Amino acid sequence: MKYLNAPWRKKYHESKQTSCPFCNENDLLVKEGSFSKIILNKYPYSPAHFLIIPKEHKKFLNELSKECLIEMWEFTALCEDFLLNIIKAQGVNVGINLGAAAGAGIQEHLHIHALARWHRDTNFITTIAKTRVLSDDSGDILQKAREYLCKK
Ligand SMILES: [Zn+2]
Repeated sequence: MKYLNAPWRKKYHESKQTSCPFCNENDLLVKEGSFSKIILNKYPYSPAHFLIIPKEHKKFLNELSKECLIEMWEFTALCEDFLLNIIKAQGVNVGINLGAAAGAGIQEHLHIHALARWHRDTNFITTIAKTRVLSDDSGDILQKAREYLCKK
């Protein structure tokens, strides 16, 4: 095996990584830990939709450290607490889509979804117009989430 030293390619690989929206998202940051962070989803399914994201650009759970996995589940539990007790959601969806076949929109950087649900919160507009109706202001939720979750 021969090797060609090509340090100019480093810039290319770095640019590919920095094009990841999760690696660059700061405007919607709610809470940052040692290994992961919570952001508000830019394209929410419901008015309060969080994403729990490892700081490392990784695709699968088995690539993450034990410490990161623990922190991400602790952050998911914090989001659950906020959604149930502050937003007064009647239920919470928590899920992970690993790979495009599983429905991942951004498959190269794994993320846990945690979102508020209410009885009958979907309606005909979602079905006929592929449009979701959001009944709350995401800026207001972002502020409330930052205040509440950063105390925890
Ligand atoms: Zn990334």
